[in-house]
Amino acid sequence: MISGSTALTGLLGDPVSHSLSPNMHNAAFPEMQLDWCYLAMPCKTNDLPTALEALRGLDCKGLNITIPHKETVAKLCSDLSPIAKKLGAVNTLIPNSKGGWTGTNTDVEGFLTPLKKIKKDWKNIEAIVIGSGGSARAVLAGLEELNISKINLIGRNQKKINSLISDFDLTKTKGIKTNLKSYLIEDLEIINLIQRAGLIVNATPIGMKNKNTIKTLQMPLGKDIWTNLNPHALLYDLIYTPRPTTWLAWGCKAGFTCIDGLEMLLGQGAASLSLWSGTKKIPINTMRNALNHSIEN
Ligand code: NAP
Repeated sequence: MISGSTALTGLLGDPVSHSLSPNMHNAAFPEMQLDWCYLAMPCKTNDLPTALEALRGLDCKGLNITIPHKETVAKLCSDLSPIAKKLGAVNTLIPNSKGGWTGTNTDVEGFLTPLKKIKKDWKNIEAIVIGSGGSARAVLAGLEELNISKINLIGRNQKKINSLISDFDLTKTKGIKTNLKSYLIEDLEIINLIQRAGLIVNATPIGMKNKNTIKTLQMPLGKDIWTNLNPHALLYDLIYTPRPTTWLAWGCKAGFTCIDGLEMLLGQGAASLSLWSGTKKIPINTMRNALNHSIEN
């Protein structure tokens, strides 16, 4: 129930009407005894500075940021967490005592949530990441945290791949050195990478359903290449509509372990809520049920 004392949280992006975040957050608040509500608020890039200042002035308790603002908002924060600095992208804003916003990024934590539940000798497996956009950055940071020693990044745009690799030079980090190599989608070497890979992550929208996409039957890298898959490979598709994607439906049928994007969505949302509320006790099952319910309907 919204009352005279209900405080605001929400999402800024353009567009935002497809977002499932309001469903999962609004389901969590009553269980946490928080008199808060979460709204998806469409915002154009030019309006971001005004919107952020106004929402801070209105005592907004926390914000999520989505496409296309994750990078722009990083420049509008008075503080950035180390992970937001490293990725150059912010998906969560927390009000700070300076009267501004502290920007952080919970996508990495969200990406890792389902992987951390799986016992695997991550150090000795080779990973493939398909895509070189915003979420590929969070995926690379997550794989680095797992200490995966070899990552092959596959993209279609050499300029974007180069910029991602130079921004994100894993070889410069401390600890185990991650060997990051990139390939264009037409590279014939990819067939050998597929045979060796223990983890393959789809960080492209290929297979995703939305009102502009009718090609939900497509599989990343095409259909034929997957017959060469390593029998122990784990397939991780960041997409959560449809559930499963054509790629994961094929993978599950062929006996591979498959993960879809729902747990990442849930993991990043729970991490944001924990930062806004200052508690680690987050009603994950209630949030998961709300997401499942909204996807089914
Ligand atoms: P993005 O920044 O637009 O990046 C998409 C990447 O996919 C780009 O590298 C793009 O290449 C590539 N790509 C797009 N269409 C392609 C095609 N037909 N063939 C080959 N490559 C193609 O998007 P994003 O934010 O990374 O999101 C990617 C997917 O992850 C989306 O489906 C999104 O819904 C999902 N996602 C899920 C979660 C979650 O919580 N589960 C979180 C974030 C994202 P170009 O650079 O050449 O355009």
